[in-house]
Amino acid sequence: MITERSLLVHCAANQALRCAPIADRPRGGLVVSPHRRDEAGLLATAAYLLRQRGFGAPLLLDAARYAGQARLPASAPFNPRWLRRQRELGLPVLTDSGYVDADDERGLAGLLHRAAAVPGAIAVLPLDPSWLHDRMRRAVLTGHVRAAAVPVALVLEAARDPFALPGVVAGLLELLRCEVPVLLLRSDVSALGALCHGVAAAAVGTVGALRHLAPRYEVARPVPRPAPSTVFRPTLSYRRLGAIARAKRGHREPALWGCACEACDGRDVDWMAGLPERDREVPAFEHAIRVLQQLRDELLDDAVAPAAARRSWAARCADAVHRSRDLGWAPAPMLTRWREEAPATAAARLSA
Ligand SMILES: [Zn+2]
Repeated sequence: MITERSLLVHCAANQALRCAPIADRPRGGLVVSPHRRDEAGLLATAAYLLRQRGFGAPLLLDAARYAGQARLPASAPFNPRWLRRQRELGLPVLTDSGYVDADDERGLAGLLHRAAAVPGAIAVLPLDPSWLHDRMRRAVLTGHVRAAAVPVALVLEAARDPFALPGVVAGLLELLRCEVPVLLLRSDVSALGALCHGVAAAAVGTVGALRHLAPRYEVARPVPRPAPSTVFRPTLSYRRLGAIARAKRGHREPALWGCACEACDGRDVDWMAGLPERDREVPAFEHAIRVLQQLRDELLDDAVAPAAARRSWAARCADAVHRSRDLGWAPAPMLTRWREEAPATAAARLSA
């Protein structure tokens, strides 16, 4: 079962064997999406992980029918076989939802209603971000979520980081007051903020495409594969490996660059920039998830009260803004959104 405030890894089926050992830890877990729309392959991978590899942390399967050029709309019926196969594997049952467009209240309501009728299901909610940042739509969304009373797993659409958009953090917080468990899929560093503020679990994507839901383009065009980024801990943000290496040339303080994670093993974090292009993606991901796991454990240690965790997250966001500027980088916009829209204390909330 998913224990509270878990940090999950979100990967594609062809990365699952490599990610499983990193995700199989207390307060960890794995979300797997199909590789090239191969749902049968995804189910076979899940069965292998469970039976042959003895994967012990929560394992969730994301059909991702809401993604890509051929995505389905929210009104598309669930596939009963998909729901049944997850149950047969002993997994939490995630609905194979279609995409909830900005004006599709009917689709949203229908999706939640159908999910509530599936015993024990988690409704996957792939949303246009205006459902969170627009006050009217937010009220409609929370109304339907309350009425359905079913756990939801959010997937947020944005060209880049959905949490950079004003109002998305505030919208998430309001959804968290609906008294249903909320999960966040396809996320990045904001997973930590979401966990501090009460999501049951948040999943960090291995590659850019799994760290948000990319909008559909009206005209299909080839999307170049971006150079890998990784988490730079002092700035709480993903940065291209080349940018980290360049920044180091101007700022030599050893404490800023060294990393003790399993992937870096004491080396300066820009070591990956020296690898051939094709070999960078795996260590970039592994370093990122290890750093985020470390931060998760520091922020959400069992001895830390929830209010203290929220204060610590806000303070780290403020510090990351300063450090970004010191390095000559624009701070990640989400750092400011979290500080402004999710005050850590009741007093700050009143004066906001
Ligand atoms: Zn590292």
